[in-house]
Amino acid sequence: MEDYADLAIKSISDNQGFQLAQVRFVNIRQENINYRMGLPFQSNRSFSQGVAVRVRANNAWGFAATNLLDKESIISTAKNAWKIALASANVPRGQQVTLAEEPTYKDEYSVRIDKDPFKMDFEEKASIVQDANKLSFSETDLVRDSMASYNARDLNIHFFSSDGSDIKQRILMIGADISAIAVGTEGPQRRAMDMNMTGGWELVEQFDLMKQAELVKRESIELATKAEKCPKDYKGTLILDPWQLGLQIHESTGHPTELDRVLGYEADFAGTSWMTTDKLGNLQYGNELVNITQDATIPGILGHIKYDDEGVLARRVPIVKEGIFVGYQTDREHASLIGQERSTGNSRADNYNDVPIIRMNSMNLDAPTGDEGFKDIDELIADTKDGIYGIRYKSHSIDDKRLNFQFSTQIGYKIEKGEIVKTLKNISYQGITPEFWGSVSGLTREFELHGHPNCGKGAPNMQTGYVTHGGPWTRFENVHMGIA
Ligand SMILES: [Zn+2]
Repeated sequence: MEDYADLAIKSISDNQGFQLAQVRFVNIRQENINYRMGLPFQSNRSFSQGVAVRVRANNAWGFAATNLLDKESIISTAKNAWKIALASANVPRGQQVTLAEEPTYKDEYSVRIDKDPFKMDFEEKASIVQDANKLSFSETDLVRDSMASYNARDLNIHFFSSDGSDIKQRILMIGADISAIAVGTEGPQRRAMDMNMTGGWELVEQFDLMKQAELVKRESIELATKAEKCPKDYKGTLILDPWQLGLQIHESTGHPTELDRVLGYEADFAGTSWMTTDKLGNLQYGNELVNITQDATIPGILGHIKYDDEGVLARRVPIVKEGIFVGYQTDREHASLIGQERSTGNSRADNYNDVPIIRMNSMNLDAPTGDEGFKDIDELIADTKDGIYGIRYKSHSIDDKRLNFQFSTQIGYKIEKGEIVKTLKNISYQGITPEFWGSVSGLTREFELHGHPNCGKGAPNMQTGYVTHGGPWTRFENVHMGIA
């Protein structure tokens, strides 16, 4: 690989206007095992490999990729990237665009893997998924559909740059999910759990699919047969669990702080952003309890990397500090466009033939420290006179500047006088981003982070993002609920 990367770089590095070349060898092994109502359902295995060459010439990028890993193909790919960079440099951009500086690194890194799923017997893995799937609809006529799956994505990247980086990374992502749909007199209700981290098969054991199967069965039946509807047009206190909080962060903090959206270079799926550069450092995004931090360095989480796909070392980056908006997610070029000295390390490509773009990796609401806040959800509920506690994501809708949103949760509870009094279904709530985050009235010291392997960006060549979000159980005030 090293020799071929050298040859590719040497074939263009003496050209007039050459600034930088990055060569990224990628191979990905994937495996999905799915069961539906006890039967195998669309399981698959795949392997892909290839090399991308990204070239900087006259302050513009060129990109080309191939899955042919012979010498001639790699050199001609480098030359194609070179031609595209020259063509891109001819497009007037109104300003000189340089790259934020980054040291070079020679490193080899792998996430911790105790048990490699690709070295295990297929049947052993399949039977664990099937057993959990069967349990989720056993001994009841009410669960009419149920699915369970496990998936692994073994990403191997070898990154070289013409200025001297040589970085090898293995990022093995493991996920499992289980869902049940129960049908009662008022129609179907779905309950689902999905767990996604980086590591090995030991994570699937830790996820405890049998326990999750019991939970989705019990709660889908409870939702379909006993739960009351969320009160209509109810304005009051809302507590979100870390999983639903994660969606809130993803949609109302994550996407609007992707700097390419802010600057108008990207608008697909999640739109642009109301968090424009004039607001950096002075926007009151939330109240003083709100501290949101990006951190891809946390081991074991989905979105954990040591370096991004332009060789930038991952680090902690504050996004909101005591309620004030203080940071964006950037790559090297966009960081430089707003005068920041370093990239935040968010440049990621889904596969070898994808152009690296700004992607979320891990963005979380910080839990209080010391003896601030509440110990856990029980303490937070005990402190709540009247309100609704919403758990896990069901659906969402948000405008394309990321200001006005409406979300719903799978299940929830009515709280009265500090106690849970009944189970609720069809909980929906609505808010305006800074008002909502400005209404936080309680956080627990206990917190959870959850992986989400399904963020879409980059159309027309859609790329999937693998991210983690979470934080404490969080209480909001004066929230408009019962919209649906
Ligand atoms: Zn997304």
